[in-house]
Amino acid sequence: MLVFRYQQKKGTKVLETRTVIIGEIRHEITNSCICENYNEETNTYSPADSCYGCWSDEVSNFDYEIIKPWRDANGFDEDTNIRVDFNRVNWNGVSGYGIVKATASWVISAISINTDWRVVFTLNGKALTATRYSHDEPVGTGLITFNLFEREED
Ligand SMILES: [Zn+2]
Repeated sequence: MLVFRYQQKKGTKVLETRTVIIGEIRHEITNSCICENYNEETNTYSPADSCYGCWSDEVSNFDYEIIKPWRDANGFDEDTNIRVDFNRVNWNGVSGYGIVKATASWVISAISINTDWRVVFTLNGKALTATRYSHDEPVGTGLITFNLFEREED
């Protein structure tokens, strides 16, 4: 993954600053505890008995790896309204959509369900998509998409 920030200049005046993402960024986030203990004697890791607070690291990594580059690439800010379209989700494979802000916490609340889940996000150019896996979605949902919410003209 390469993220380029470049400025297009004319003379000495900066016309535009934007981020161009080359290639695809994949990032997985889960609400299950991923804390591990390190055993010095065997040089191995094993799941921790109790959580050391991995969730806040998960959220900030997700923000840094996915949400900020995505916002930059699209010219969104934290107040931008985003339409999240769900495709074949939950046990009954329903579809629908929701409107959230373009922040890590809003996006996470949109894709969260009340069970253990993991979501694989893909950022490709400007396009953000995701697939969720959970007990009721063992092979993954259909593609979940995140796009600028544009009110329909009256
Ligand atoms: Zn943990």
